[in-house]
Amino acid sequence: MAFPEHARFIVIGAGIHGLSTAWRLAERLAASGQDVDGQIVVLEKTGIASGASGIACGVVRNNYFQPAMRRLMAHSVDVWESDPEGLSYHPVGYMQISSESMHEDVRSIYEQQQSIGYESVFVEGEQQCTHYMRGIFDDWQAKGITSVLHEKRGGYSNQTKTMYALADKVEALGVRIISGVEVKGFKTENGSGAIASVETSRGDIGCEHVVIGAGPWVRDFWQMLDLPKQITVKDLDGNVHENVDMWRYWQLEEGVLVVDPELGLANDGKMPPVIHVDTDAPLHSTVDGSLITDEMWGIYYKPDWHFGGIQGGASPYKVNTPVDDVAIDPYGPSSPEFVSSHEFAHMWVSALAHCQKRYEGLMPKYHKEASGGIGCFTADSFPVFDSFHENATVIADSNHGWKMIGVGHLIADEVLGERQELLEPFRFDRFEKGELHPVSNSPYPWS
Ligand SMILES: Cc1cc2nc3c(=O)[nH]c(=O)nc-3n(C[C@H](O)[C@H](O)[C@H](O)COP(=O)(O)OP(=O)(O)OC[C@H]3O[C@@H](n4cnc5c(N)ncnc54)[C@H](O)[C@@H]3O)c2cc1C
Repeated sequence: MAFPEHARFIVIGAGIHGLSTAWRLAERLAASGQDVDGQIVVLEKTGIASGASGIACGVVRNNYFQPAMRRLMAHSVDVWESDPEGLSYHPVGYMQISSESMHEDVRSIYEQQQSIGYESVFVEGEQQCTHYMRGIFDDWQAKGITSVLHEKRGGYSNQTKTMYALADKVEALGVRIISGVEVKGFKTENGSGAIASVETSRGDIGCEHVVIGAGPWVRDFWQMLDLPKQITVKDLDGNVHENVDMWRYWQLEEGVLVVDPELGLANDGKMPPVIHVDTDAPLHSTVDGSLITDEMWGIYYKPDWHFGGIQGGASPYKVNTPVDDVAIDPYGPSSPEFVSSHEFAHMWVSALAHCQKRYEGLMPKYHKEASGGIGCFTADSFPVFDSFHENATVIADSNHGWKMIGVGHLIADEVLGERQELLEPFRFDRFEKGELHPVSNSPYPWS
């Protein structure tokens, strides 16, 4: 098929957001009786799922301290639930298990979940929490846990399976995905600020609207759009901070314990919820008993047949390389620089053993291959969903995004002229206006 000279909608990036946007756009066009063929083109420099979406742990949850994030996640969980089988989604639920320092934050999340009708159970008190957890895993042994938020919705999905299913779905609707095409820049015409065409490694393509879902590569698209590298941020106390970097990278630490995933099943022999523990209980090595940390630490995990074992991760660490110098390619496990560390493996497996006796002494089962990858975060670590140059929409999820499958749908509705209230708290001008999101005591930059 010839390379197109024009498409009404160009979507850049075949990750979760690009394909979700294309999905909804195609459905909307078809629903209004239009022929979708040739109208929507997805441009992807490598292949489907070759970015963050292809290596995501796949967790879908809603334990967000920020009301705007919670509402948005509830919408995305609706999209996951609309086709669990087709999207390879496992609605097993999710548990936020915490020590006292997070008790009040998590209680507030629970109360607000109740107010939006998002089903969850909240357990308080050390004895009660241990009792509740042993009802799920009889070998539960984490000490000092004083609250458990059990989200009955959410769970996880199998990233690459989901992505290929999404790609099939959009292609069946008439979307054209072109892989191996790198976007190099944008052109305007006749003094207009709007993007008239997209420059690619295979030539220019004219368009009416561009949607950019470039994941960790958003830094480069920001530059192509002539947007500021440094910005002014007014914080929640009204203090103004000048010259704050718009982007920064964090390394996501994830890995797999190569055991029969059945080892992770619950007492009833079924899939347990995804487990997420944040605690300040001293963490000791499962190898030699030495102290790993007596400061706040956090892990998450699940039995996962797609990864072939118990899969999960821990708090990320900030990449200290100046943002312009961070080498994004080769990405993920292929990166010579940004993969999960040996320290992570030791900490994570020890933390599994801290939580459940069945994982004690299993360090030799930690997989040897590289894993993890970097994510691009905004100045406040929350997403930016906004339009620039009249017709270029940027989906910068600040690495919150696998679970946010519904964002592309909302973006598609905006592209078709309907502003979405759920996206309003994520506009770029919030930094200057001081309309930031509240932050919790979690050890993660994304909660
Ligand atoms: C290790 C890890 C684990 C994670 N786990 C979770 C999780 O459990 N739950 C969760 O909700 N989120 C998770 N995330 C975050 C989540 O994966 C990302 O937020 C999300 O996948 C981003 O999707 P995207 O579509 O924006 O970008 P991506 O999936 O990165 O897709 C962007 C695409 O754009 C393409 N591209 C880039 N530049 C160009 C160009 N110039 N021309 C053409 N194409 C280009 C890339 O090749 C890529 O395919 C995790 C992230 C990492 C790194």
